[in-house]
Formats: sequence, C-alpha cells, structure tokens
Amino acid sequence: MNVSAPLDQVKGVGEKTGAQFEAAGIHTVNDLITFLPRAYEDFSHVTSIADVKPGKQTIKARCEKIATRPVRRGLRITTATLADETGKLQAVWFNQPYRETQLKSGEEFYFSGEFEFNYNKYQLTNPSAEKVSEMPVQTDRILPTYRAIHGLKTPLVRKILNELRPLMTMLPETLPLSLVKSEKLASHSEALLGMHFPETIDDITKAKERIGFEELFALLLASQLNRIENAKLKGWLIPFEQSIVKAFVAQLPFELTGAQRIAAWDILQDFEKEIPMSRLLQGDVGSGKTVVAGLAARQAAHEGFQTAIMTPTEILASQHAETLNKLLSPFGVKVGLLTGSVKGKARETLYTAIANGDVDVVVGTHALIQSTVHFHRLGFVVIDEQHRFGVNQRQALLSKSEHMPHLLAMTATPIPRSLALTVYGELDVSVLNELPKNRKPIATKIWSPNSRPQLYGLIDEQLSQGRQAYVICSLIDNNPDNELKSVEAEFKRLNQKEFKHRRIGLLHGKLKSAEKEAVMGQFAAGELDILVSTTVVEVGVDVPNATVILIEDADRFGLAQLHQLRGRVGRSSFQSYCYLMVSSSKAPSQRLKEVEKSNDGFYLAEVDLRLRGPGEIYGRAQHGELNLQVASLADTKLIARAQKAAKAFVSSGDDLLQYKQLHRDVEHYQRLTTLN
Ligand code: ADP
Ligand code: MG
Repeated sequence: MNVSAPLDQVKGVGEKTGAQFEAAGIHTVNDLITFLPRAYEDFSHVTSIADVKPGKQTIKARCEKIATRPVRRGLRITTATLADETGKLQAVWFNQPYRETQLKSGEEFYFSGEFEFNYNKYQLTNPSAEKVSEMPVQTDRILPTYRAIHGLKTPLVRKILNELRPLMTMLPETLPLSLVKSEKLASHSEALLGMHFPETIDDITKAKERIGFEELFALLLASQLNRIENAKLKGWLIPFEQSIVKAFVAQLPFELTGAQRIAAWDILQDFEKEIPMSRLLQGDVGSGKTVVAGLAARQAAHEGFQTAIMTPTEILASQHAETLNKLLSPFGVKVGLLTGSVKGKARETLYTAIANGDVDVVVGTHALIQSTVHFHRLGFVVIDEQHRFGVNQRQALLSKSEHMPHLLAMTATPIPRSLALTVYGELDVSVLNELPKNRKPIATKIWSPNSRPQLYGLIDEQLSQGRQAYVICSLIDNNPDNELKSVEAEFKRLNQKEFKHRRIGLLHGKLKSAEKEAVMGQFAAGELDILVSTTVVEVGVDVPNATVILIEDADRFGLAQLHQLRGRVGRSSFQSYCYLMVSSSKAPSQRLKEVEKSNDGFYLAEVDLRLRGPGEIYGRAQHGELNLQVASLADTKLIARAQKAAKAFVSSGDDLLQYKQLHRDVEHYQRLTTLN
C-alpha cells in the first residue's frame, strides 16, 4: 500500500467509516497517519486503590455507585464509588452526566485523573475512563486520544491506525538525512510510530520534537526563500532629499525622539534601494508611529509617488487622514480618505483623483483593496495595526502597483523576536523603544465595585481640570446585542447619576459611520468630557487631552487588549490614569496585576505569551492559517534550532526539490507568510 492510497483500501474502513473520515477531511492514508493525537492517557502505571496518592493517578476498577446532581445553574456534578480488590475511592466529574450511562455496565475500566482535595475530601477529579476490554493490544498502556470525528469512536480510530502500523515502519525519511543526524532527531517513521503507538512518555517527547522541528524548519525555510525572492524583485527607487525631510521635521509641533529619527532613517535608506522595502515598525502604544509614516510619505510624494495607508477601523482612518492632512498640506501634499462611508458621487470623484494621481496619500480601511481602486503610481504602502490584517489583505493592497511598492507594517503589539521571525519572515524591523520626552508613566490601579463613589470622585477631579475620560464597557458573552445593552445602560446611568453635570458621549460598533465620526470628532475637539465606549476605540485612537480611562469588567479583557486600551491615555505631558474595575469581589487575576505593575508593552507581551500562547498575541487569523500541529510558537529554543538549520540549508545549495514532502510544506508556508 501507498501513502497516497484512498482510505477504503485500509482494512476496517468500510463505506460508512470512510464517509465519516471524508467528512473530517481525511481522504488518504497519508491524511490518516498524519492525523496526530491530541493528547494521551497514561495507563502505564496502574496503582491499586490502597496505594493511591495525591497527584495524577491511574487505577483499574469497577464503578459501584454513580449519581448526578445539579449544584447550581450550569453545574452538574456526577459522583461515583470506584472499587478494586484493595479498596474503594470517590470520583467526581463536572458537567459530564454521560458518565452514568458509560459506567453503569459494571465492567472494568481504567480511570486516569488527578487525585486531589476537592469539596472537603480526596477524590479522583474528572478522570478519563477506558474500557479494559477495548484496550487495543495488551502491552500498549499509553493511549492516544484524537480530535473527535463525528460518528467514529476512539477505539475504532486506534484500531484502523493499528492496521497501518506496518506501513508506518517502512516510511522513508522526509528531511535531509544529514540534518536528522546532526540534530539527533527521530526519523520520520519513528516519529509517526511514537505519536500513534508510544510505549513510554519519552517516545512521545522524541516524536513531538521531531515533528515540531520539521514544521518550524519548513516555516523558517519558507521565510528565507521569500526573502531571497523579494530581493530579486524590482521596486521603486525613491531618492532621499535632505531639504524636504528637514522642512517636514521643522514644522512639527514637537521634537522627534531618537528612536523616531532612526526608524525614519531606516525607511528613507530602504527607499533608495531598488529592492522593495519590507519593514516592520514596532512601537509601544503612544510611541509616535504615525508621524514616522507621515515623514516617509512626504518624501515619496515629493518624488511623485503615492502612499496608501490601511487601518483596521474607520475611526482610525479618519483620524489619521486628519492628522496627516495637518502635517502634509503645508507642503501641497494632498490627503484623501477612503472608507465604506464615502459613497456615491464623492466616492467616484475620489476614485478618479486616486487614478489620476491628484491625491498623494490615501488613508482608508480595507475599502482600499477593492478592485475599483486604481492608483496612479503607488510607491509606498503602510499597514497600520498590521496584526489586525490577514495575509491576503496585505497582498491585495501591494498588488495595486506596477512594481512592488515599499511596505511599512506598523504594530503596537510588540512581538517577541522569535515570533516575528516565524510569521513575518525575515522582515527588517525598526523599533520605537522610547516614548516622547514629555510623557509621564500612566498610573494604573485595580478597583473593586464597592469603591465606585471614591473612584468617580477622582475622575471628576480630572474633568474639573479640563481633562477628558474614557469609560470602556466590555462585550458580554461575545454577544454584540449584550454589548450594546451594557454600554447603553452605563451611558444612561452616568448621564442621570454620577456625571449628570458633565457632557457625555456614546460610541459603539452599531452606530452608523457618520454618527461614529461625529461623536469621535466631538470628543477629540473637547466638546465631550466623557466618552462611554466599547472597544471600538481600542486601537490607534489619539486624543491627547484624555487622561483617564476606566475599564469596566476589566477581567474580561486579554492582557494585550488592556494594554492597548490603556494606551488611549498618556498621550501628552499630563499625568494619566488607568482604572481597572473588576466585576466581582474576587481576587484580581494575574493578568490584571501584571497590567497594574507594568507599562511596558514588550514585557507584557512576553507575559501574555507565557500565560496564553502565541495565537492570542498574533492575531488569531494568521496563527490559525499556519496550522501547526505540534510545534509551539512559544518554543523559542526549537525555533532557534530550526532557524539555524534553515539558514544552513539555504547556503548549502542543497536542492529542495529532492525532498518532496518538505517542498510541498515549504511552498504552502511561502504562500502564507510572503509579504507580496
Ligand atoms: P502610536 O505609536 O500609538 O500610533 P501616535 O502616532 O498616535 O502613536 O502618536 C501618539 C501621540 O504622540 C500623538 O498625539 C502624536 O502627535 C504625539 N507624538 C508623536 N511623536 C511625538 C514626539 N516626538 N514628541 C511629542 N509628541 C509626539
Ligand atoms: Mg497608531
């Protein structure tokens, strides 16, 4: 049998089973053998009940008594008495009432779970249960569990995979042999056997290391190759003219920070090369990325090149258009705004102006990538809050030019270096590691609901001094209707009670664009004291006079999100305050304490990576697209090894085409991670 054979050639796969595998996206033998276990049950150490100790334990026992009772809404507890020859113990499951049906037969099961102190006594908590009679081979005691496939029970999946075991032992190597040897990796065949049929925990570790390495190696090789290919592209040469840049800098209402100067210099240097720039501008919230992009756009416009700046929200687009217009119009540079709410005649006129080159800088949402938008001479593309966009959107914008335009991707979500390498390829990186001189650190404090009156007093004091405040309400249960309710209720309450003497505005995603813009405009102009808002202001919004942000139900937000929200204040020389209101009197989470403790986005990103893993940090879309089965983007050691190996492979001149599987994987990743 061959790995590309259809599944129905495997013993045990009939028409029905085959259809169920098909529905789960498993069509060939190869699909099945690379359908890797999600977790393992370890039955290799069975303890008799008399010897059970606190910690992870496995016993072989029968269920004597079992019952389920509701405790409160949303919680049902199933308790059972389990017995072997040496004694009895209690097991407990939370919200798994089906255990009753499963265990009532009185048959013998392996139970594996945490033996711990729970509800005032020692119990086995949420143990898994495997029928002893269904254990595949007498010697296998570590059992893989797989992602559920509708209609297929795990024992059957294991049995079918067992049929493929002989085939797996004969699979040829997929990586260069020299690499397997120098990295001391398990072979391809050993790794698959280790994943599906481990005898020891060590077998699993070795298998995961090998497969994880292979995934990262392919990913990093892809980014190296992208980089090489990018270097072969012809781009636009935009010469640097000192007098132009000097004049721009001279009219700024502030002095550029050292970090801003260096970043601007990096960009202007790249402009002068014929290879298109691909640069990531990382800078914590409030570090002043917009003006760096504006400076570069000024230089581009001087040479007759257009700039496109794409932002994730309309609010941000119109704000940027206004800011840039102020900075650029003195030099005769024309700025246009293209969002979904520019309609009819105005839109047609703008399209024409973009196509004729009458507009130099176009700021917009993803409206920019529509096929109806044609540029005259697009030389420079800026993606603001880059992690909010998918690969395809970035590519769509870049493709609107005859030659590959220069690309500046900006993000306020600091990405640890190791991560940046994997998803953004070998991007050049500029970092704004310095805030403008006039800034004072934001004072952050966690508050509990019973101190509200005192807190409102503090906020009112700020308002009396002429400052402004945000009140952020969360999205309850991910339901936009609830979100509306909570933000509207809060708006009403503050309006009628605590802040009835203040001017309050309301902002949320369900308002029409024009309404959003109007409210935002009023707040920016100082015509409102308080803005009650959902997270629509989360990214980018810049109202320097706002010095207070109160985040309601702060425990519902992620760490990166809290840091972003906090970044709406602390944008001027005034002392700013961030108040994190917890929703109950429970102790505040680790996350909140970290935000209270630190203003450093890079530090918080590392913490976030540790607490939640990279998917959340990156933008879920991109992480999801990569579809890594085993490798973790938090595994910096393995990333470093794979990175080194990928570099060595590229410079060795070894031909990728000889390694069919690897070649396929690399091509797949190249498409996902390329910038162009
Ligand atoms: P972000 O990096 O979060 O996108 P912005 O570009 O929105 O930050 O800048 C934040 C605020 O800081 C803006 O009001 C901007 O005008 C101001 N700013 C930018 N650079 C400086 C500087 N060098 N000195 C003082 N203020 C600055
Ligand atoms: Mg910004």
